Amino acid sequence: MLERVSKGFFHLLAQSRTLQVVASRVGMRRPRSFARRFIAGENIQEALEAARAIERRGLLLTLDHLGENVTTLAEAEAATREYLAIVRAIVDAGTSRNVSLKLTQLGLDVDKAIAVDNLRRILEHAEPADFFVRLDMEGSHYTDVTLEVFETLWQQGNRGLGVVLQATLRRSEQDLQRINALGGRIRLVKGAYTEPRAIAYQRKAEVDAAFARMMKVLITDGHQPAIATHDENMIELTRRWAAEHGVGPERFEFQMLYGVRRDLQASLVSAAYRVRVYVPFGRQWFPYFMRRLGERPANVAFVVRSLIGEDRRR
Ligand SMILES: Cc1cc2nc3c(=O)[nH]c(=O)nc-3n(C[C@H](O)[C@H](O)[C@H](O)COP(=O)(O)OP(=O)(O)OC[C@H]3O[C@@H](n4cnc5c(N)ncnc54)[C@H](O)[C@@H]3O)c2cc1C
Repeated sequence: MLERVSKGFFHLLAQSRTLQVVASRVGMRRPRSFARRFIAGENIQEALEAARAIERRGLLLTLDHLGENVTTLAEAEAATREYLAIVRAIVDAGTSRNVSLKLTQLGLDVDKAIAVDNLRRILEHAEPADFFVRLDMEGSHYTDVTLEVFETLWQQGNRGLGVVLQATLRRSEQDLQRINALGGRIRLVKGAYTEPRAIAYQRKAEVDAAFARMMKVLITDGHQPAIATHDENMIELTRRWAAEHGVGPERFEFQMLYGVRRDLQASLVSAAYRVRVYVPFGRQWFPYFMRRLGERPANVAFVVRSLIGEDRRR
């Protein structure tokens, strides 16, 4: 219940233009500004620096250029060009060829056909260079269309593309069966959006139970699945389930967010598991940042402390 209220509250705040303007001015201003805990930087150079540091720690990564819900075709075109430039920059830098993106960033709210064309343009450059492109999953309003786009491109032969399923949605176990049967690569998450009772589990115990059921199917029958969580119970359960079913650590990966549970990331790497860090960067960091606060209200104390610290340092 508390988690739901907290998520809802921060989603509401995320829509405040004033807060966004104020936060955007101070959140990334200095090397120790508060948003830097979760955001790797505002440009690709900063993101690549973070990427190299992550790889030195034995971790894998996926880069996400922040941005969502663009409202004009010009913005969608700019986001697409940005991703094409990122693909080139990653190749030049020699870091992990793996990116995550959102369809609403490529213009889904403006014109679905153009958003799909934009995705195709990115894949045309990314796939021959051995990139893996993950379609992040957004709020439930976009579930059908995101899965439909994924399944269409998959049927057309785009094998460097993967999708995300959210355990919180009641429909996800069925989606998993279908996408798994296709051979699609799935990232399993709990779900970052506040969703209505009719379509989503509301209690943490119910979400965790659905996550566990889906994890089990993915580990034994999935295709290089990603178990994306910081929940130690879910991670422990995954490790045990994989070991009991003879599934080696090379057949799946854990994924965690940049700046979250770095201790757990390190301990899994030292136990020989593959761990991929989701590395977000860019100037449009505010909605992403607010979702992270909503997941763990204790993060607000961290923001307040760093603001006070920043005041003192000034
Ligand atoms: C790699 C990756 C990709 C993701 N992609 C998507 C996506 O495409 N669509 C989507 O809806 N959601 C996505 N998410 C977010 C996900 O849905 C959850 O909202 C988020 O991971 C928190 O849930 P949890 O599984 O960590 O478990 P929870 O039960 O929420 O948390 C378990 C523990 O993890 C730690 N923790 C969790 N979140 C934070 C935080 N923000 N700050 C500090 N500690 C924290 C705390 O110790 C907490 O007790 C992604 C998450 C990851 C890791």
